[in-house]
Amino acid sequence: MRQLLDEAAKGGYGVGAFNVNNMEQIQSIMEAARETQSPVIVQASRGARAYSQDRFLYHLMIAATEIYPEIPTVLHQDHGNSVATCKSAIDMGFTSVMMDGSLMEDGKTPASFEYNVAVTREVVELAHAKGVTVEGEIGCLGGIEDGHGAGGDGLEHLTDPEQAVEFVKQTGVDALAIAIGTSHGAYKFSSKPTGETLKMDTLIEIHRRLPNTHLVMHGSSSVPKDLQDIINQYGGKLKPTWGVPVEEIQLGIRNGVRKINVDTDNRLAITGAIRKVFAEKPEEFDPRSYMKPARDAMKKVVALRMTQFGQAGHAKDYAPIPLSEMIKRYASETVAV
Ligand SMILES: [Zn+2]
Repeated sequence: MRQLLDEAAKGGYGVGAFNVNNMEQIQSIMEAARETQSPVIVQASRGARAYSQDRFLYHLMIAATEIYPEIPTVLHQDHGNSVATCKSAIDMGFTSVMMDGSLMEDGKTPASFEYNVAVTREVVELAHAKGVTVEGEIGCLGGIEDGHGAGGDGLEHLTDPEQAVEFVKQTGVDALAIAIGTSHGAYKFSSKPTGETLKMDTLIEIHRRLPNTHLVMHGSSSVPKDLQDIINQYGGKLKPTWGVPVEEIQLGIRNGVRKINVDTDNRLAITGAIRKVFAEKPEEFDPRSYMKPARDAMKKVVALRMTQFGQAGHAKDYAPIPLSEMIKRYASETVAV
């Protein structure tokens, strides 16, 4: 992932990181990547790894790289809660891991700065020895997703720019997730977010102080109204909600954001497409009759985000560096931290 993010920084664009649990979601992302010629980050939470029993995920991703050899593809552990989780991901073949030491191992209790530095440093040492990239987090996001998160509205544990500098210096992470008021899950904001709810000034300040650290925006689904409407039109009961506007993400990309995590938008697209088939064709019972439209709907959202984030058209800019080469680079410290 380090290479993907370095290239994105060079090109001044962002790369979407999309969560997966199953074959259809992986297919949607890879098809969108081929259509838009985008490098791509596929990520799996602990919940996704449990759901896919790890081995299904592993072999589905091998299939993805066989079928789409021209697409630079990362498999990233989303929100690793412990050194052991990150280690098991690396052992399985993930090329990037997130050690989220902003929370304790329970994935809920905000942790101390010292704890965060200690566990993240440990993961950086074992990951870089294998050529694997590390994302850390400083400050805590709001909301809860897959049982992970501090809850709240995301404004309680914002990232302090000075602490972010210290954290990067002490841990050597490649990428840094920051808390600027975003939340996990569908219910992010109860009205359209403004400069007050999203702390873009903090993001800009962190980038000014850490120009060589790739910043990561979590909880960055835009939760578009048209996708909410499809679900509700066909029997769903979503409450009105607002996500992170694409323009704010683009402002972030102009200020050092290289990885943008998106999950909710894809979940909404899939659920809406399935509900539509169930409502319009109640006689259908072949799972493909609703999984195909679901896959198409997710592909459309992913392709749109790839274009909006600027990664479209960059799949063939470079040849992926093998992990063995990354091991050498990390060992010789030619990789800037
Ligand atoms: Zn997250």
